[in-house]
Amino acid sequence: MAKKVTFNISKKDNFSEWYSEILAKAEVTDLRYGVKGFVVIRPWGTRIIDKMYKIYESALRCTGHEPAIFPAVIPEGNFLKESSHVEGFAPDVFWLDKDCTSGDDRLALRPTSETAFYDLYGLWIRSYRDLPMKMYQRCNVFRNETKATRPLIRSREFHWIESHDAFATKKDAEAQVQDDIRMTDEIMHKIFGVPFLPMRRPEWDKFPGAEYTVGSDSILPDGKVIQQPSTHLISQHFVKAFDLKFATRASQVPSSRAKEKTKVPWLTCYGPCMSRMLASVISMHGDDSGLVLPYTLAPYQVVIIPFGNDKVGSRKSEVGRVVEDVQAQLLSEYIDVKVDDSDKRPGEKFYYWEMKGVPFRMEIGEKELENDEVSLFIRDIREKISVSIRDLPETIKNLGAEYDERLLARADEDFEGRVVDCSSKEEIKRGLEDGKICRFDFCSCEKEGAGCAEFVEKELSARVMGTLASASEVVDGRGQKVGKCVVCGKKAIAKVYAGKSY
Ligand SMILES: [Zn+2]
Repeated sequence: MAKKVTFNISKKDNFSEWYSEILAKAEVTDLRYGVKGFVVIRPWGTRIIDKMYKIYESALRCTGHEPAIFPAVIPEGNFLKESSHVEGFAPDVFWLDKDCTSGDDRLALRPTSETAFYDLYGLWIRSYRDLPMKMYQRCNVFRNETKATRPLIRSREFHWIESHDAFATKKDAEAQVQDDIRMTDEIMHKIFGVPFLPMRRPEWDKFPGAEYTVGSDSILPDGKVIQQPSTHLISQHFVKAFDLKFATRASQVPSSRAKEKTKVPWLTCYGPCMSRMLASVISMHGDDSGLVLPYTLAPYQVVIIPFGNDKVGSRKSEVGRVVEDVQAQLLSEYIDVKVDDSDKRPGEKFYYWEMKGVPFRMEIGEKELENDEVSLFIRDIREKISVSIRDLPETIKNLGAEYDERLLARADEDFEGRVVDCSSKEEIKRGLEDGKICRFDFCSCEKEGAGCAEFVEKELSARVMGTLASASEVVDGRGQKVGKCVVCGKKAIAKVYAGKSY
C-alpha cells in the first residue's frame, strides 16, 4: 500500500503552509466564517483550550485569585481616564454603533479590562483589610488588528484569562510580577512544552499605562518570535486616575500620630492567552503526520482500536468484552479514552487519530489477548510496543508522563539552539536570517526608532524584545556585565534580545 501523503508540504520546508493545512486537517479551526481575523474553533481545538483553561484557573485559585465575570463592553469614559492607555489602545478598539450606547458614553468592546476592573476596585477597596485583592476572568477580548492576521497567532478576537491584582505595597506587587513569570514557566513551559524568554520590554514597547512590562517570547519553527503571556506593574499615574485608595492601618487607631491615613494601592495584571498558546503547542510539537499534543492536553489520551469486535449473535465477542473493560478501567482513573469501533478501515483510523495527535493508539485483537497483552502505538516517536493488559491505567499514566517529558526536552533543546550571541552588526543580520533570536550588547532601551533601535527595527526589520527578566528578580539590564554596543560602539548598558516577529 502506498503511503498516504498527509501534507502538501513538509513543516520544515514551509512552516506557514503546513500550519494552515494542519489547522484544517486536524479540525482545529475553520476559517470560513467570513470575517477577517475571526475564526471558528472546532470541538477538537476547543477541548484542548478547555484543558488549558482548567490548568490555568486551578493554578490561579491556588494562588489566591477569585473568579469574576465583567461585561464585554467598556464605557469610553473609563478609557479617557488615563491618557497613555487610551493612546495605546485607541487604534485597536472596536466601538459599538451609537444606537447601542446608553447615555452619552460610546461603548467599546473590551480590548483588555483594566479600565473595567479598576472602576469597581475603586468601590471595593476601602481599607488595608481588603488587600491584596486578586481576581481574574476567563473571557474573549477584541482588537481591531489592521495588519495581516494569522489564525490563533494574530486574530481580532482572542480567548484568554486576565488577572488583576491590587496590593498595599510596591514590594508585594513586584513579587506578584515574579509569581506571574513563574506561573508561565510552570504551566506554559513545563506542562505545555513551550519554552520562552521572560523579557522586560523596552520603554517604547511596554503596556500602555504600565510602569514596566515583562513579556514572554517564544519562537515558531520559521524563526518568528511569538509573544506569549505578559505581566505588568501598572503605573501609579494610572492608579490615581481611577482614584483608587485605601485607609491604612494608622487610620484605624484614633491616637495614631502616623500621618498617612490613606494610601494608593499597587496594581499588576497578567494575561495568558489560551488561543495563542494553542498556536505555539501546535507549531512546536506537530510533525508531518499531524498534531503531536502533550499527553496532559490531548482531548483523547488513548484511542482503542478493536480488531475482530464482531458480535456473535447477540453476544459480544471476547475482544468486545475486553475493550469495554479496558475502557471502563481507564475512565475510572480519569484517562480520556475513545473507542473507535466505526466501520472505517484500520489504516484510515490510524491516519485520522495520528492527525489528531492522540498520544496512544491501543490495538486490541485476538492475537494480543492470547498473550494477555495490548499493542500501543506511541504517536511522537511513532513506535509500537506491547504492554501487559494488567494495570493498564498505571502503565498509561507512566508512559504519559514520559511522553510529556520527551516533548519538553525536545522543545528545550530546539529553543536553546535558537538563541545566538552576536558581536557585530553582520552577525545580528545573519542570525536573524537564519531564524535565530540574537543576543548582544546594546546602548539604550529608551527610544523607539532612534539611533541603535532604529537600526534593528528599520534596517533589519526585527524587534528589540528587551532584556532578560530573570525569574528570581526583575532586572532592567543595568548591572549586567556588558561591553560596547554592537551597533554604535558606545558604552552598552544591557544585553538585549532581538528577533523577527509577525
Ligand atoms: Zn548603540
